[in-house]
Amino acid sequence: MWKKEESIMNEILFEEIQGMQGPYRSELRRLLKKLVMPFHRGDRVGIKLHWGERGNKSFLPPDYAREIAQWLQEGGVRPFLFDTTVLYSGGRRKAEDSLQTAVEHGYTESFLGCPVTIADGMGGRCVIDLPAGYRHFAHVQVADIFDQTDGFVIFSHFKGHMEAGFGGAIKNLSMGFASRAQKQRMHADVRPLLMPEKCTKCGTCVEVCPTGAAQFGDDGLPFYDHEVCIGCAQCIGFCPALALKIHWETDAAVFQEKLVETAAAVWRQIEGRSVLINALLNITTECDCWPGENPVIHADRGFMGAYHPVRIDEESIRIVGENTFNQAHPDIPWSRQFSYAGEIGF
Ligand code: SF4
Ligand code: SF4
Repeated sequence: MWKKEESIMNEILFEEIQGMQGPYRSELRRLLKKLVMPFHRGDRVGIKLHWGERGNKSFLPPDYAREIAQWLQEGGVRPFLFDTTVLYSGGRRKAEDSLQTAVEHGYTESFLGCPVTIADGMGGRCVIDLPAGYRHFAHVQVADIFDQTDGFVIFSHFKGHMEAGFGGAIKNLSMGFASRAQKQRMHADVRPLLMPEKCTKCGTCVEVCPTGAAQFGDDGLPFYDHEVCIGCAQCIGFCPALALKIHWETDAAVFQEKLVETAAAVWRQIEGRSVLINALLNITTECDCWPGENPVIHADRGFMGAYHPVRIDEESIRIVGENTFNQAHPDIPWSRQFSYAGEIGF
């Protein structure tokens, strides 16, 4: 559909925010005008984004998605928004809850001017196995959205992440497209580790655990059944006393590699018919999957546009600075995402 010239695949566009207050609609609009649209009139184009977990305060406001939808419509394209269901309990585990959360966060069809959908279907079963052929995954299971969608806008909130160190386009393509089973396969190396001296025995971890793996023992402290645990990290994220940390069942880099493999397999389906936009705004320690407020770790920088997920994340890291994520997540080998992407030819 679109020429995959080396020059355009390496191109990066950046609209910087200069000391203003958001939402930064005009800056996004300026970026969109410069982006080459790889779509044709009448195409059906999916905007992939994360509308935030219920109660989360750092998700991107719907104003930006509306600008993107309008830009597509002005080009004669038919946009729709989509996300997928998640592993953990809360406002996005079931499709109907996730759509309700989208509404609560302002992502309504009437505001955006286009439909809002769940790509893995209302029952979470609208999924497809894609060939991968990498070290960890021969196949990856993701939302079955590729045949009925002509093109994609991968719109990512660039910020920190508890397990990936940072979250941007690679993560949006990977966890963002993955079926719940594939999400589970990627999280399989994560387990909670209790620091008993910090635990207040509040019970939050037991309450939020979606599998029953977190329970109280006879000593009054919680324990986590590794046979039942799916590694969703919800207990770790919710613990108000910061009494839990990640225990990696294998090398911590394996999670990064699995993330990259899933993203690479998805990218093989949509390369040449996609554009990517990273919003370097409200850059918080954690992703938008957690309710509540996360500390901001860097000032707003602007919007980046590009045509390759690894390139846009590399450049976003360069703008925000490696130290931002090293300080926020000192134990996470996030740079493995880039070295591994290079090794597998992504
Ligand atoms: S949420 Fe944290 S503080 Fe509360 S019981 Fe679980 S580990 Fe302990
Ligand atoms: S114990 Fe395991 S399954 Fe339960 S919330 Fe924690 S990481 Fe998720």
